[in-house]
Amino acid sequence: MKTLLLSLLSLVTLAWGWDVFATATPAGATIWWVARQEVLNLSGLLSVAMMSLVMYLATRPAWLEAPLGGMDRIYRTHKWAGILAVAFAAVHWLTELSGDILKSMFGRTGRVPKEQFTGFLDVLRDLGKDMGEWAIYAVLAMLVITLWKKFPYRAWSLLHRVMPVLYLMLALHAVMLSPTNYWAQPVGMLMAGLLLAGIYGAIESLRNGIGKTRETAGEVVGLSQLGGDITTVHCRLSSAWRGHRAGQFAFVTFDDKEGAHPFTIASADRGDHTLSFEIKGLGDYTRGLGQRLRVGQSVRVEGPYGRFDLSRRNPQAKQIWIAAGIGVTPFLAWLESLQTDPTNAPAAELHYCTRDDATDAFVPRLQALCAGLPGIKLHIHGAKQGANLKAQNLGVSGHTEIWYCGPTGLANLLRDGLKSLGLLPRFHQEAFEMR
Ligand SMILES: Cc1cc2nc3c(=O)[nH]c(=O)nc-3n(C[C@H](O)[C@H](O)[C@H](O)COP(=O)(O)OP(=O)(O)OC[C@H]3O[C@@H](n4cnc5c(N)ncnc54)[C@H](O)[C@@H]3O)c2cc1C
Repeated sequence: MKTLLLSLLSLVTLAWGWDVFATATPAGATIWWVARQEVLNLSGLLSVAMMSLVMYLATRPAWLEAPLGGMDRIYRTHKWAGILAVAFAAVHWLTELSGDILKSMFGRTGRVPKEQFTGFLDVLRDLGKDMGEWAIYAVLAMLVITLWKKFPYRAWSLLHRVMPVLYLMLALHAVMLSPTNYWAQPVGMLMAGLLLAGIYGAIESLRNGIGKTRETAGEVVGLSQLGGDITTVHCRLSSAWRGHRAGQFAFVTFDDKEGAHPFTIASADRGDHTLSFEIKGLGDYTRGLGQRLRVGQSVRVEGPYGRFDLSRRNPQAKQIWIAAGIGVTPFLAWLESLQTDPTNAPAAELHYCTRDDATDAFVPRLQALCAGLPGIKLHIHGAKQGANLKAQNLGVSGHTEIWYCGPTGLANLLRDGLKSLGLLPRFHQEAFEMR
């Protein structure tokens, strides 16, 4: 994520720098006014570049999963690019306001002359200016509610739908207010490419086209209720489903009004277009979902996505797999996929953390799945039984790889614990949070 963001920011800064050196300073302009103009240009360019990346990543580009490390990381990059875009937009806006301060300090002389337009272009330029200003206020407000985790997800997601419109307003602002000479230079070409990618993302989002080419229709063929408000949902999809790798997830729509929610495919690819999901009631929609779903109802599954994939493990590394709570789902798929060839299954220590191992319905499932896999050693950690998992009990030694799926709090605790022991194993983590 950091590499992509830093590379793009550097590329835009270099292209801007090229223009600064290639273009003569306007006659009579003083250093203060030139500096203000260039900070205005650079902050605007960086903001639009980040915002274009945000819009493109919102289209869930599966081809970027390998370089960026999975769809959960793409979403994290989307979020951080959004935060950077708003920060640069704020600098841009403050720099614009600084004109009055400069005027009071140095007077009007030495200002960078404004480009003159007439007719329709002038009208569009004024419109672009106003749109940019309104859009900046709106994206600042959006950032605040995005970072304010207590703001309800559903309301946030509804408000978030306005982002493509705000982006198109900012794109118009960028096109109309960028210096005209940019369009004949590397900076203009780079911006044009980024704007095209961003506009594509905005249009896909507005026409509800995101993920449609990866969506397969099907029906719910089985439902069962586990303890702790967990529902097992079995689905049969049409033959268009291309299959999945154990550990991947999909966006599942049971109800058009509600839209898609991401769930891990908790079963292996059986080659018959059937999938199972284990869904825990964690919020407004998923709570009581088992009572609302019906066998025979239609379902749409978009995917598969994700790189929490058994085939990506390093066969030379010691394997430690940690599942906590509903984070057990990718491991259920892994264990199911290994049943076809148990003798070739890798050796691994599988830790499952639960509130109460005496009542947890996944405990007997895991025991049954591991019974046929001699290389997998299952450890159950029941919090009620006082058996919380600690970093020092993981047995990390030599070249170790940890695969973790569960709450972020426990992941951070284990990472910190390992660090304090001077241990730095490779830590693969599936993020169950996208906002
Ligand atoms: C890659 C991935 C795999 C997951 N796998 C499973 C699984 O196998 N089993 C399981 O029970 N849960 C899984 N989850 C979590 C599940 O998606 C959320 O619990 C569910 O969407 C909550 O919806 P809600 O409306 O009931 O909750 P709310 O209270 O409305 O939201 C709670 C949180 O859930 C997330 N969320 C809600 N709606 C969406 C959405 N449409 N898209 C993205 N995130 C959303 C947000 O982070 C939100 O803050 C997974 C999440 C991710 C990202």
